Formats: sequence, C-alpha cells, structure tokens
Amino acid sequence: MGKASNKILSSSKVDLLRDVSVVVGGKNSASIVDLLLGKNNVNEFIIAKKLGLTINQTRNILYKLSDEGLVSFIRKKDKKKGWYTYFWTFNEERAFLLLKKTLFNEITQLENQLKSREEKRYYICKQCNIEVTEETALLHDFVCPECGEVYELQDNNKSIKEINSSINRVKLKLKEVEDELEITGSKNEKRIKKESAKAAKDKKAAKVKLSAKPNVAVKKVKKQPKIKKQKKHTKKTSKKSKAIKKK
Ligand SMILES: [Zn+2]
Repeated sequence: MGKASNKILSSSKVDLLRDVSVVVGGKNSASIVDLLLGKNNVNEFIIAKKLGLTINQTRNILYKLSDEGLVSFIRKKDKKKGWYTYFWTFNEERAFLLLKKTLFNEITQLENQLKSREEKRYYICKQCNIEVTEETALLHDFVCPECGEVYELQDNNKSIKEINSSINRVKLKLKEVEDELEITGSKNEKRIKKESAKAAKDKKAAKVKLSAKPNVAVKKVKKQPKIKKQKKHTKKTSKKSKAIKKK
C-alpha cells in the first residue's frame, strides 16, 4: 500500500473523537465534541444554546457521555436561584481508550469471520441470492427451500479479500488511536511532573519557614530514624501474619 491510500483512510483526531462519542451519546454528540475540545468547564447552558437543544436534551446526552467517562463535570450552585449549573470538560484520553477497546473487539470479530471463511464451506442460491452454511445446505439436501434451485458452492475468496481489507482499515485506525494516546499520555505525564515539582517546591518553602523556628525543627529531624525502625517492625509483623494466613 502506498502513501496515497493511507491519506484516504486516515482520519483526524477530531473525527476519531466524534466517532466514538456518537456511538456512546448519539448523533448530537459530535457537535458537543466540537464545543468542548480544547476547553475546560464549559457551561451547559452555552452548550444547549449552541446546539439548539433544551437544557434537558443537552444534559441527557452529556450524562450518556459521562457514564463512559468521556466527559466530566463540576457543578456550581447559583446562590440567588438555588439551582445547580454543570460545567463540562471532555476527557480525550478516556475517549481514545474506549475507542481502542472498540477497535480491538472489531478486529477480533473480523478475524473470527476470516477464520470461518478460510475453514468452512458456504453455499449460495444464485436465484434468491441467499447464502447458507454447509449445515443448512445439508439440511435442505442442497436445494433452496424458497425456489427449488440447487445450491452452489460459494467462492470464499471474495469475502476473504474484503475481510482482510477491513482488518487492515481497522488496524490503521487503531494505530492512529494508539499514537494519539501516546501524545495525550506524555502530555499528562508532563503535567503531573510539573505539578509534583511545584508541590515539592511548596513543601520546601514550607520547611524553610519551619526551620526559621530553630530548635524545634532540628529536633524533629533527629527523630526520623526511630520512625524508620517502627516501620520495619510493622512490615515484619505483617509478613508474619501473611504467612499464618497462608497456612
Ligand atoms: Zn432460492
């Protein structure tokens, strides 16, 4: 296969996310993806307005997506009116993970079909254009019960070719999803690293503040070895109790 065919088959990231969302939440979900991508905490009233739907219709779709983890929400209470407004965020990673799972299942199904095409015989009534398994053909003495025509052995090669190209198409899509997951994954990793670096910095700053009160802080540091010993001790006992449980 050349580059040209890849170009035709490959879909954009947004297309992939739309596809999986439509499967989960119905056709209006595609527009919701467009509205939420790249943003955080989008007001549901804005979503409803832009989609031309009522707030209940909008929420119903969002709840479906939320059941699969594709969107998450925070809610805020309107102090005057006393009701809650939901703010929605799209979870790309979860969407890609779900899509990956779906594509895996699709490939498994296709491979099963391929196997049975390669191993089993099928018969066809060319008059009615109805295909049956060998068992069914045998059951009817190889005569079509609809029209009385004799069944002919089906040529599986065409199906095998079609199934193989479907498998290739789905595998290509799967590869795209895995690439996207890698990108999202490393983005998240970077974010987590950044956050933990900031947390460590904050901790350090807090410690510096503590050590400004001289004696107390020094004493605390000296106490540390004792805590370690205690930890070791509890580990041993837990190992013992595990051993006892095994017996
Ligand atoms: Zn027939």
